Amino acid sequence: MLILVWSHQLLGGEVALTFDDAPRPSGYALDYRERVKRIRAALKHAGVPAAFFVLTKRMQGDEGRTVIDDYLKDGHFVSNHTASHPSLERVGADDFIREIQQAHDVLAKLAGFRPWFRFPELKEGRTQEEHDKVSAALKAMRYLPGYATVDSRDAYMELAYQQVLASGVKLDESQIKQSYLNVVGKRLEYFDDLGKKVFLRPVKQVLLMHENDLAGQYLGDLITALKATGWTFVSPEIAYQDPMAVVSTMSLDATQGRLATIAKDKNIPVSPPFEDPSLLKVMFGSKKK
Ligand SMILES: [Zn+2]
Repeated sequence: MLILVWSHQLLGGEVALTFDDAPRPSGYALDYRERVKRIRAALKHAGVPAAFFVLTKRMQGDEGRTVIDDYLKDGHFVSNHTASHPSLERVGADDFIREIQQAHDVLAKLAGFRPWFRFPELKEGRTQEEHDKVSAALKAMRYLPGYATVDSRDAYMELAYQQVLASGVKLDESQIKQSYLNVVGKRLEYFDDLGKKVFLRPVKQVLLMHENDLAGQYLGDLITALKATGWTFVSPEIAYQDPMAVVSTMSLDATQGRLATIAKDKNIPVSPPFEDPSLLKVMFGSKKK
């Protein structure tokens, strides 16, 4: 028995929870108010603050503002994910920087604001020049990288989930839950191993999720499952103190997260499980590709 417990303890490391694109409108599974209620309740069990990477255009109405206020009341952090989620590669550096500034003007007044910036779709620029221009603007505004080390892939899972719900097909929710827990758990495990390969020590992981219906439904189960396999939840403030935060990277492709970028710079191969969106669609019951 003792041996079992001990081996579980060895499995998981430390992880901070982060949620992108908040506040999100209602989905097919949950009214947004119900979703927020459940995410707040689930996060209480993690026992540490999470970071919400906010899209400030969605805070213009009272509803969106209330959602963010509710998270702040619980001691969670809010950070910058631009005003309306433009892709840097599509709009170019100047418009992108304006979007960061717009979001900053709204967020910097809030008590739970932390100066972390997360690029939409983790796209940090097509060219070095574009990348450097945005980096310089962020530095001038005293932002730190709001990087992720593990993309949960919940954007793809949620897309498939919503497609099936919209089609009216009855879903096996227990199977959806198992798939969600499996994908997120396996990916965390993979990046935990990758961290040890790259840095020869466990690194503090930053899990990227979205403020979506899957989180509303199963975040509580996910937190329980991760605790049971030995994961410890830490505040993003602690996670972002990991020395990997200040490693300078060469590759411009940041879309698999910071740890993957550093690994690729060192010629360490990166192939996380469940990368393929079409596999995730099948797992979540959507046959559309
Ligand atoms: Zn986003």
